[in-house]
Amino acid sequence: MSTLSPNDQTDIVAADRAHVWHHLTQHRAFDQADPAVFVEGHGLRLWDIEGREFLDAVSGGVWTVNVGYGRRSIADAVHEQLVKLNYFAASAGSIPGARFAEQLIARMPGMSRVYYSTSGSEANEKVFKMVRQISAQHHGGRKWKILFRERDYHGTTLGTLAACGQPQRSAAYGPFAPGFVEVPHCLEYRSQFPDAARYGEAAADAIEHVIEREGADTIGALCLEPITAGGGVIVPPQGYWQRVQEICRRHDILLHVDEVVCGLGRTGTWFGYQNFGIQPDFVTMAKGVASGYAAIACTVTTEAVFEKFRHADGGELGYFRDISTFGGCLAGPAAALENMRIIEDERLLDNAREMGVVLERELRGLMERHAVIGDVRGLGLFWGIELVADRETRCPLDEALVGRVVGLCRRQGVLIGMTNRSLPGFNNTLCLSPALVVSHAQILQIV
Ligand code: PLP
Repeated sequence: MSTLSPNDQTDIVAADRAHVWHHLTQHRAFDQADPAVFVEGHGLRLWDIEGREFLDAVSGGVWTVNVGYGRRSIADAVHEQLVKLNYFAASAGSIPGARFAEQLIARMPGMSRVYYSTSGSEANEKVFKMVRQISAQHHGGRKWKILFRERDYHGTTLGTLAACGQPQRSAAYGPFAPGFVEVPHCLEYRSQFPDAARYGEAAADAIEHVIEREGADTIGALCLEPITAGGGVIVPPQGYWQRVQEICRRHDILLHVDEVVCGLGRTGTWFGYQNFGIQPDFVTMAKGVASGYAAIACTVTTEAVFEKFRHADGGELGYFRDISTFGGCLAGPAAALENMRIIEDERLLDNAREMGVVLERELRGLMERHAVIGDVRGLGLFWGIELVADRETRCPLDEALVGRVVGLCRRQGVLIGMTNRSLPGFNNTLCLSPALVVSHAQILQIV
């Protein structure tokens, strides 16, 4: 809890207001709002600068702090590594880098190589570059296009915004690099294929129609979130993922699964894609890799993809010409190793599954009692609650009212989220993603 004097509190809030440009924030409204300066956390509990206590149901706001706040053992592991060796990049190994890669690959059958960087956007950019390079060196530059899905998000850089299925997030920043092509979303509640007998397969077939339109020989990869996060917490329907994989294999298109949100236990398995029995060619991860204790992201791929860079047209110069300066900072893998040990030893995947069942049951009960809830969907500890003005028409609840729900929860001491303000008419889904250590009592408090 805060031990700052009232004067220090006032000074810090003033400095924040005067000099910090906050992420994803319209400052016109923020400057009038109750200040949020958090100073301490333990488990799911957070304290702000005035000593107010909150229960964090969104793992640091954006699905990140999977093992909860206040983990001294992660801080100790980082400290120990930094005083021994903090950094070296490019063409040199490290003890935590090698160990973490080995541990990660052991949990990802079929995968074999880990490329380190520092953010989800960066990890995804690496895939886009690898795909373009494979096209250049193995397909005469023809297989250069990358498919992405409506409502999905892959990052904040200009490259990843070219693959953004949430138009208002990218609208102000174009024009973008060519060659990124959108495929339809798969949210059954807002079905684009109302007459389909088997919705999952129809939604996957819609991807194939785009492939046929563009020409399979022009497409290098398909990039999808295993479960769409900020675009509305969309768990793909039955049959979807299997069909998507089959379509990719048939057209020789590499499958890239963006696990930046689901990776490291969020859905009760190590990775979201492992719920669907598929085998991707690329997997990217960031947020939960070190639960926010250090900046680390990974681009993971197969030996077959890696081999393409060993045997490229360019010979000695055909290697992956990429670096991430701070991908060589050893705080990342040191924190990630301890984070993984905690998930394993404390059986947090089991807890995520068990508490996920409780959360789902409670949310469905809430839905029975409140007509404003149109749909409840999720998996493990990753849930969305779609609010509607009218259940019959499914007309989305006004965004300002959804924001008020978030504000009211906060006033009662519970931090929840909502889908980002980027889908016109569809910013109506509340998000819950508590840390994997959440207890039964805390689930009840959140609900
Ligand atoms: N991919 C997904 C699915 C995300 O939700 C995010 C961020 O929210 C990113 C990528 C980008 O990650 P970062 O903000 O670390 O660049």
